Amino acid sequence: MHGVPGRSLLKGDTDTVQRPRVVILGAGFAGLNAALALRKADVDVTIIDRRNYHLFQPLLYQVATAGLSPAQIATPIRRVLGRQKNTTILMDRVVDVDLGSKEVLTSSHRIPFDYLVVATGARHAYFGHDEWEGVAPGLKKIDEATEIRRRVLLAFERAEVADDPEERRRLLTFAVIGGGPTGVEMAGAIAELAKKSIAMDFRRIDPAQSRVLLIEAGHRILRSFPEDLSQAAERQLMKLGVEVVKGDTVVECSERGVKLKSGTQIETSTIVWAAGVVASAAAKWLKAKADSAGRVVVGSDLRLPEHNDVFVIGDTASVHDAAGRLVPGVAPAAKQMGRHAAKTILAAINGDEASPFTYRDFGSLATIGRKAAVVDFGRFHLTGFLAWLVWSLAHIWFLIGFRNRLVVFMEWAWAYVTYDRGARIITGEDA
Ligand SMILES: Cc1cc2nc3c(=O)[nH]c(=O)nc-3n(C[C@H](O)[C@H](O)[C@H](O)COP(=O)(O)OP(=O)(O)OC[C@H]3O[C@@H](n4cnc5c(N)ncnc54)[C@H](O)[C@@H]3O)c2cc1C
Repeated sequence: MHGVPGRSLLKGDTDTVQRPRVVILGAGFAGLNAALALRKADVDVTIIDRRNYHLFQPLLYQVATAGLSPAQIATPIRRVLGRQKNTTILMDRVVDVDLGSKEVLTSSHRIPFDYLVVATGARHAYFGHDEWEGVAPGLKKIDEATEIRRRVLLAFERAEVADDPEERRRLLTFAVIGGGPTGVEMAGAIAELAKKSIAMDFRRIDPAQSRVLLIEAGHRILRSFPEDLSQAAERQLMKLGVEVVKGDTVVECSERGVKLKSGTQIETSTIVWAAGVVASAAAKWLKAKADSAGRVVVGSDLRLPEHNDVFVIGDTASVHDAAGRLVPGVAPAAKQMGRHAAKTILAAINGDEASPFTYRDFGSLATIGRKAAVVDFGRFHLTGFLAWLVWSLAHIWFLIGFRNRLVVFMEWAWAYVTYDRGARIITGEDA
């Protein structure tokens, strides 16, 4: 796409646009589902994303720990929406929204809308310590996952050539900060990589002697899960050899390692940040009220207050649904909001009343290593292998694309039998 900054981008630039124009920002779970729900509608949809692919974030940790390759958890947006006749896909970065003129500003164009759906997700929060990002990358993008994979695998390679036992110990220590689902999954997968997958592959070091620490400021891991499942997850992590540190806050991340409030210094070369997220810049673009995590506060109809034609959904939105519950920042909620926003737009076009959004909670899942998980189905809790089966089936089912499902299923079946992690590739700079 070529264009002059500030120039308006209309269909064909000269066409008269007759159908309502729906512009969707972000092709994550929320934006993609909004676009899909409009596929038969008599509207012109434009979906804008800075990337050309939709990313299945729940499996990012598998890329970061060499279990899967990036292409297995990402699908080109054009593969999903390319044949949807009423939809134009633009790969561009949104930089602002002009609510007065009803235009989206990207790095190269101004794109007019009749209805706007903002679904630009969230990014890491370092709680005022953005300088930690360099030494403690988070897990939100493919590039971050491959960077973490590089650091983890490189630590073993460097330990193999290191002569100083202190340095070896430092290299074979891995600290994961944040005991939510991502931290738990990362810590379990690193432990399994070290203690099983590559345990026999080195001569001068014993990877099984690695230390993997999961650091959580609160008094239990998986705080969004019921207490019995937190405890089960902790037991399962300990079985894998993960040291769970609770009730201690990280006060410094540096090249040397992690310093805790209690004074404990953890010497490590590999730190993974899984401790918090903050919403995208949408609140700034919309000059809207945001909650403490930067999420735009919208009504239970997902509309921006006083702007009936602007919807904010997914991780970017702070929503209390029709039942008064705060909608969590998870993929099923984002998908449901996407579909609901589309339905509400169609109702508005047809002059109909739309009902408020109601979140349907189908349960929460987190996996710990290759064959354990915890599953919260409300009154019904599962742990161990059965939970892992449920987790695996759910993730394969929700992956986009038949090819990805098949390949991931085969990778997991292989890994289950052999412990092998096929994507043990160190990319980026050479040693
Ligand atoms: C590591 C990890 C593990 C997770 N595990 C789970 C899990 O197991 N289960 C679960 O339910 N949820 C999980 N989540 C949460 C889940 O992924 C999110 O709730 C969900 O992705 C939110 O969807 P979304 O569409 O709001 O945002 P996203 O999926 O983040 O999509 C936002 C889109 O907006 C685009 N974008 C952002 N800014 C711009 C811009 N300025 N211009 C153009 N495009 C832009 C991005 O490129 C992206 O495609 C996990 C999240 C992470 C990071």
